Amino acid sequence: MESIYYVLSWACHRKCRHCYEPRFRPYVRSALEAVVAEAEQNFPRIIDHLPPRLSYLDRACPAPDGSLVERPGRIILAGGEVLLDAVRERVLYPAMQRIQARYRQQRGVELIVQTTGDLLTETIVEELLARGLTTLSVSGVDDFHSGMQGQARQRAFKERLRRLFEAHGLRGSAAPVSTASEAAPPAGPTYNFFGATADTWIGRLWPRGRAWDNGLSTATLADNFCNRWSGGLNFLEHRYNGSEVSVDPAGNVFPCCIKTRLPIGNLVEEDLIGILDSLAEEPAYAAISSGHPQRMGLAYGWSEEQFVEASRTLTPKGEPYANLCIGCDRFHQAVLGPVIEAARARRAAARGGAR
Ligand code: SF4
Ligand code: SF4
Repeated sequence: MESIYYVLSWACHRKCRHCYEPRFRPYVRSALEAVVAEAEQNFPRIIDHLPPRLSYLDRACPAPDGSLVERPGRIILAGGEVLLDAVRERVLYPAMQRIQARYRQQRGVELIVQTTGDLLTETIVEELLARGLTTLSVSGVDDFHSGMQGQARQRAFKERLRRLFEAHGLRGSAAPVSTASEAAPPAGPTYNFFGATADTWIGRLWPRGRAWDNGLSTATLADNFCNRWSGGLNFLEHRYNGSEVSVDPAGNVFPCCIKTRLPIGNLVEEDLIGILDSLAEEPAYAAISSGHPQRMGLAYGWSEEQFVEASRTLTPKGEPYANLCIGCDRFHQAVLGPVIEAARARRAAARGGAR
């Protein structure tokens, strides 16, 4: 597996109007304790159910003799905001240590921490480095984030963090916007910045969460989020580059960061690779993995035209909107529940404990 995008916790100190997930928001007192406790309780089993060897064969950059090079996979630990005190101390740090211990025997894994950057201090950077940080990825450098509007503010914010990072030996790198592998990844820890700007793969905003509720997604049918980074492309091809899944704090697994209407399994209960392999022959998931979600219904009586028609809807403001992720939602609701359940039952039976 090349990449696992693991949302550790729902807690965030912000409540951005363009956020793709309504559960990313501030929590206080017992509500904060509940989301932190959920994350704290689940992360050990989730990590234990990740692939025993987290690496991938790089078809994009073969060796001179044509053989495929094995490269270390990466785990992106994200929120919400993982640097909030309770999340950082009770979930992020112990999760990093558990990941380090799990993959110590192989060449290691890339360990990326994604943060807004708002809460970073010298001490936190040092603590992250001491726990095996590979890359600090600062998201949210865009006009949607309050206090970050305009080039001047974004430049100043990045400059302040750049000084902090470089004083601790981190070096600038490209944001994780493609699956193209680097033949010689930079040695030593790195940092990058990104945000929902027009030039990025998330610039048009997914039809999800508060972005959807606030009518902010400008995507059209032509914006196939599935066929790009963060989408479902290659999620079943877990031996090769380009494979990525996302995991939520409850352990639910999704083929994409956008998140399908139904999870394909749960890592608190089961191994990731077993879940993926159980779906490899399912036409709907094969279509997602090929980056053509409009074909996911062909084997179930939905033509491409029908799927595209199901991709049309009205925004909460009553405006016409069309995107393949909407069709995917409706197809999941109409068809895929029993398919997912049948795959789960097959896995349980194969483990000898049908239930
Ligand atoms: S966009 Fe990022 S910072 Fe804003 S609420 Fe969502 S997770 Fe938090
Ligand atoms: S079409 Fe479905 S699987 Fe593909 S990115 Fe959208 S929600 Fe995810």
